[in-house]
Amino acid sequence: MEGTIVFVVIGIPLTAILALWLFGERWRLIQPSTMRFLREGGLRRLLNGKALHAYFYGRWTNQYISMLINRIYPKLDERGRQRWADHYHGKVLTLEHAKSIITLNKKIPLRDLEQIIPYPVAREILLKGPPDVAVYECSCRHARPGHCEPTQVCMIIGQPFVDFVLEHNPRSSRRLTQNEALALLEAEHGRGHVHSAWFKDACLDRFYVICNCCKCCCGGIEAMTRYGIPLMASSGYVAQVNNDLCAACGTCENICPFGAVEVEETAIVNWDACMGCGVCTGQCASEAISLVRDERKGDPMDVRLLADAESATH
Ligand code: SF4
Ligand code: SF4
Ligand code: SF4
Repeated sequence: MEGTIVFVVIGIPLTAILALWLFGERWRLIQPSTMRFLREGGLRRLLNGKALHAYFYGRWTNQYISMLINRIYPKLDERGRQRWADHYHGKVLTLEHAKSIITLNKKIPLRDLEQIIPYPVAREILLKGPPDVAVYECSCRHARPGHCEPTQVCMIIGQPFVDFVLEHNPRSSRRLTQNEALALLEAEHGRGHVHSAWFKDACLDRFYVICNCCKCCCGGIEAMTRYGIPLMASSGYVAQVNNDLCAACGTCENICPFGAVEVEETAIVNWDACMGCGVCTGQCASEAISLVRDERKGDPMDVRLLADAESATH
């Protein structure tokens, strides 16, 4: 009897896992990129659980993000909110700076970007230009009933992340050429969506994705605007209105993902709330609104400038 219980509880699951690993292409647990990812993370990440965390996050992203949005964010207290933001955070990008990542033509290994990513961990950039790019299903959209379309808008950037996603989630991801990636950024900008670079300590403490987020589905924007979780850093710019051109049409007020605009006789931007995403600039038919640099908001993530500065110091 005891032998039967041991066989059912341990033997069957172990045999199933082994069979899936060996024979199940779709479900295989260990892929070549898994080993590369684990090797790059080193022994420390294996021992402190970050490697396992990254594996779950990269492999079952929809389930992970859905749990975050629907169960974890609403329950975080103030300390929990800051703690969460320190480990998982995004930097808003202008369209131009998002494009400059895709078209980077040199290597860029950078760490400790204090003025750019104002968080204590996960702020390293390591890209070999031009970086590999894959597009992946947007998990925030999948977590919402009646979500926005299209859903393939998350752009995984650089290795080992691109191969990891392509190998572990072949049905919901595909490789993009540079032109396809640029076209996707333009199309998302045209839809009024925010570009953002994301960093996660589990993902080797580095930048690994450019998201293209809508204000109705994005968990990051919701975390900021609804729960006050400081998950995103400003692009380093703010929107400025030319009152002579403004027709007070209200478009920018409706489309601003961060609730930073009010329109009365003219549009008024609350610079404290403005994240410098540039969504309003792309949607204003009167071309009355533009982005201007605001030093109080930190430095922009302009990888071309960063790469030049890096090569000048060597
Ligand atoms: S952060 Fe943005 S693009 Fe990324 S999964 Fe969420 S909504 Fe989608
Ligand atoms: S979209 Fe342009 S014209 Fe319309 S209110 Fe905003 S700034 Fe003014
Ligand atoms: S005002 Fe414009 S730039 Fe500022 S957060 Fe809103 S949409 Fe983005």
